[in-house]
Amino acid sequence: MGAPSRVDKATAEQLHFDRSHIWHPYTSIDNPLDVFLVDTAEGVRIRLQDGRELIDGMASWWSVIHGYNNPHLTSTLQGQAAKLAHVMFGGLTHGPAIELARLLINIVPDGLDRIFFCDSGSVAVEVAMKMAIQYSYSLGQSAKNRFLTIKSGYHGDTFHAMAVCDPVNGMHQLYQGILPRYFFADMPNCRFSDDWDETDISSFTSLLAEHHQSICAVILEPIVQGAGGMRFYHPEYLRQVRKLCDRYEVLLIADEIATGFARTGELFGCDHAGIAPDILCLGKALTGGYMSFAAVLATAEVGHVISRGEPGVFMHGPTFMANPLACSVAIRSVKLLLESDWRSNIRRIATGLEKGLADCRRLDGVRDVRVLGAIGVVELTEPVMMARIQKRFVDNGVWVRPFGRLVYIMPPYVICDEDLQTLTKAICRVIEAELAL
Ligand code: PMP
Repeated sequence: MGAPSRVDKATAEQLHFDRSHIWHPYTSIDNPLDVFLVDTAEGVRIRLQDGRELIDGMASWWSVIHGYNNPHLTSTLQGQAAKLAHVMFGGLTHGPAIELARLLINIVPDGLDRIFFCDSGSVAVEVAMKMAIQYSYSLGQSAKNRFLTIKSGYHGDTFHAMAVCDPVNGMHQLYQGILPRYFFADMPNCRFSDDWDETDISSFTSLLAEHHQSICAVILEPIVQGAGGMRFYHPEYLRQVRKLCDRYEVLLIADEIATGFARTGELFGCDHAGIAPDILCLGKALTGGYMSFAAVLATAEVGHVISRGEPGVFMHGPTFMANPLACSVAIRSVKLLLESDWRSNIRRIATGLEKGLADCRRLDGVRDVRVLGAIGVVELTEPVMMARIQKRFVDNGVWVRPFGRLVYIMPPYVICDEDLQTLTKAICRVIEAELAL
């Protein structure tokens, strides 16, 4: 072997610096897992600095729906940067914010026509929860300030978002005494296409019946519980939740940060059940994965009540609120989606996932294989060994990032059938090899 090339040396130096100084999601700074250095990305391909190309199965955690370096999105962003990259939103407004608000209000479930733009999914959840608390306060019901959610959920990593994540997965014991303690109903067991079982909602019903006087809102991920377990539950559960929230005068917050923008086969998860929440959180795919950005939509009623009570304003206003770059790329991304035949495209991806992952079903050590829309999940009986399986995926030319017992993918919508086949075959091959050890 010759001396390492300059690129190799430079890459090794960069990775060494990264390893010594930079935190990655959920990692130890002293004992980090290996990371791969990315040079560029195009369509569904992530190109590593060492020249290898990976077919992306993750859409960078649900967000890059139109593929990397999408020419429409890139040029929109460049055009907007040349006009107005940022301006404060206090006392000022701009075309991109107004146009995006109009666009979103038109496509979300009915009645949500007041909008708050913010920075990330977790912040959107904070904003939604603050809205619910201020709503009760304005009605003179300040004791109604707690939340009900369902086990196995995930809503983000900031404090109040954490408080409604699954208490075990979310490691609530770490923050005992600091995190507020809320109500957790049993997670829905009835799967998306099972026959509905009335008993599935009973834990939720009894918690709400017993504690509604102290609950301002229910918060949940509609239809798909994402990072908390990749579970797909029955639309009737959601319909029942809506009815119960109405009966007990409790707001319903739908966290569609992962499910929004057609990922599940409907434009929004709530559309599977034909319901509308009182408050809706959007993020991730909102900008096609170009920027961290989120939006919270609320009914006029929520807006009015908050505005009529004390202090008469909604108490939130981040520095980068409604950033024009983010708004303009979001407009383009949403339009790209709406102009496409997204429904049959997602169906095409679902069919490819069903076919491609079917081989995993016969493997000992695979508990379940499930697909909904453009989401495919292989659930194992034991947790994966992350460092080893990750390297194996990269060696097989694909980017898949499992967690715990779950190997799951949600590829960019632009993935072609051939790449989808390569991706799913690699998954079956890697899982088989891991289980054989
Ligand atoms: N809610 C849901 C349903 C999510 O999946 C996520 C992110 N995985 C969040 C909230 C938090 O979003 P962010 O990571 O942008 O803060």
